[in-house]
Amino acid sequence: RSKERGGGVFHAYEPQFHSDAEERRVLELALRKALQNGELHLHYQPVVTADDGSLRGFEALLRWQHPTLGAISPAKFVPIAEETRLIAPIGEWVVRTACQEAARWPAEVTVAVNVSPEQLHSPQFVQVVASALAQSGLPAHRLELEVTESVFLREGTGATKVLERVLDLGVKLSLDDFGTGYSSLGYLSRTRFSSIKVDRSFVQAAARGTPEAIAIIRAVVALANSLGMATTAEGVETEGELGMIQELGCTRIQGFYFGRPLPVDEARSLATRGSGVTRAA
Ligand code: C2E
Ligand code: MG
Ligand code: MG
Ligand code: MG
Repeated sequence: RSKERGGGVFHAYEPQFHSDAEERRVLELALRKALQNGELHLHYQPVVTADDGSLRGFEALLRWQHPTLGAISPAKFVPIAEETRLIAPIGEWVVRTACQEAARWPAEVTVAVNVSPEQLHSPQFVQVVASALAQSGLPAHRLELEVTESVFLREGTGATKVLERVLDLGVKLSLDDFGTGYSSLGYLSRTRFSSIKVDRSFVQAAARGTPEAIAIIRAVVALANSLGMATTAEGVETEGELGMIQELGCTRIQGFYFGRPLPVDEARSLATRGSGVTRAA
């Protein structure tokens, strides 16, 4: 359901549909054509280094602009893509497009791509990533794949084996939306994550002074540090949130404070302007 996927984002009632079921049917039909009709594109959100605010890379975020329905949120259509297996071709397009774009950025600027658990059910995914890297010329270490804890809920699907093989290509792995899901610490030691992304809900709660959120972020940062992993604070919007996150020692920051997801051209010029990322970006 979109409300769960959207990290608490509530989607207002849309009068063009009479029911959730009708909306879902319409979106599924439209999504089947979205890729071939060129309605999908990627936006890129800056991720900065916490120490100095310099640009580290971008997260690629899928956008769908339908000719009559307008812009549809990934929180709404990604779950539909996952349930209908459309996520395989769409996810392949995302990896290939993001790698091609990132290959045009200055060296060392990274690109992060979200990967659904369903994509990891297919061993084919390893070849998709390998060929996206080969065709774009992007060095593997500049590609980061983001997965959520839900990947580990269904052991026996082969997903963790596929992850291992993708890691063997030299790409990096991030644990996305940390703290919102299953949150067992076991897989943190079993899987070679390079970074943990602390979910925006924790960032907000910590900045409000919620003791539990502060304690959890502090513990996650300590754990990540001792395991040699980075910590990315997601959804930093305000100066207050930035201050709290810096105090808690997260090593990377992503959020509207430093930059919204940008169209490809704007991301490229920001990357080319270099390390001087600013909050005005
Ligand atoms: P995510 O991977 O956790 O991505 C971060 C989301 O937080 C993005 O929403 C981003 O626009 C939003 N965000 C970033 N900074 C801020 C902030 O300061 N304030 C607020 N309020 N929001 C912020 P978006 O683009 O709507 O994407 C939602 C989710 O859809 C993503 O969450 C991810 O789970 C999924 N998604 C997006 N693109 C893809 C994709 O290519 N493949 C897959 N499988 N999932 C994707
Ligand atoms: Mg993500
Ligand atoms: Mg996230
Ligand atoms: Mg999140």
